[in-house]
Amino acid sequence: MRTNIAEYSMISCGSLVQALEAMDQTPNPIPFAGGTDLMVYLHFGKLPIGTYLNLHSVPELRSKIEITDQEVILHGLTTYMDVYTHSFFKSEMPILQQAASVVGAIGIQTRGTWVGNIGNASPAADGVPALMLYDADLVLASRQGQRRVFLADYYQGYKKTVRLPNELILEIRIPRQKINTNSFVYYRKVGERNAQAISKVLLAARLEFWPSQTIKDIRIVYGSVMPYTYRMKKLEQHLLNQHITPQLIAEAVHWVGHDLKPIDDIRSNAKYRRKVAQNLMEEFLTQAQANVVFSEGK
Ligand SMILES: Cc1cc2nc3c(=O)[nH]c(=O)nc-3n(C[C@H](O)[C@H](O)[C@H](O)COP(=O)(O)OP(=O)(O)OC[C@H]3O[C@@H](n4cnc5c(N)ncnc54)[C@H](O)[C@@H]3O)c2cc1C
Repeated sequence: MRTNIAEYSMISCGSLVQALEAMDQTPNPIPFAGGTDLMVYLHFGKLPIGTYLNLHSVPELRSKIEITDQEVILHGLTTYMDVYTHSFFKSEMPILQQAASVVGAIGIQTRGTWVGNIGNASPAADGVPALMLYDADLVLASRQGQRRVFLADYYQGYKKTVRLPNELILEIRIPRQKINTNSFVYYRKVGERNAQAISKVLLAARLEFWPSQTIKDIRIVYGSVMPYTYRMKKLEQHLLNQHITPQLIAEAVHWVGHDLKPIDDIRSNAKYRRKVAQNLMEEFLTQAQANVVFSEGK
């Protein structure tokens, strides 16, 4: 059943200071960015009645992408399309562009924001694993000040995050990546179809070999499997300083089968998710071994 729109209120503020004041003084304020998640809830009569904060009225959130020597900054209203069409990402963070290209279709990519993808806290978010892969952290702002939280530490459970009710996610900050021929990146979304489908299982991963074929650095992030986007830090530790061999691949696949506690939902079941998650791990490590051109120089 659709909800009566007159029961909702929306605040528009002309500055960040005013927006943070409104977040502080309103009971349970709900930020409204692109609205591509929130409007679906409205359509199905599941959007909580309350006061929403129109982020498009806040000029500080509207600037798009900043690139410094150390980091890349996505702002509160940076969309998928902003990243997809920006030449910087193709060479240095290609997985962000790949993720942008698989979220919904062009309308959603043009309106939906990276911050909204984080804020919605869906286990099936496609943008979050790509950001986590690159060690993104968040700037959370309230009237009391700002703090930084690693995206990998942001989720505490299903739809549970460390964000306080009066905080806005102001920025996503991603450290600049060193590109060399010893590194390999992988992002694969498995859904009902290639386009316009929500993920059933997603693996975003990267590794770097040094020296020669030794794994020096590695990130493994699963989406749509656990109740929230999940980085497998213990498996990463296990794989560090090892060479990729059939034995190591088998160990990693076993680890994934054992460590992940997949969810059951309308899109898929736990058994399928576990098996596909294992297959993706095997594919990632096999492709990394096959595709990297090993060199001793950097
Ligand atoms: C047809 C369709 C297809 C879709 N396909 C995909 C898909 O393939 N993959 C995928 O991952 N998602 C998909 N989505 C979901 C959605 O488009 C994305 O999650 C998008 O990134 C949400 O961004 P938004 O700006 O529209 O968020 P909004 O709807 O505005 O907000 C989402 C949540 O984030 C919170 N929020 C927003 N901004 C802030 C902030 N600054 N601080 C704190 N909290 C904040 C809001 O309060 C809300 O809880 C789809 C949606 C639709 C309608």
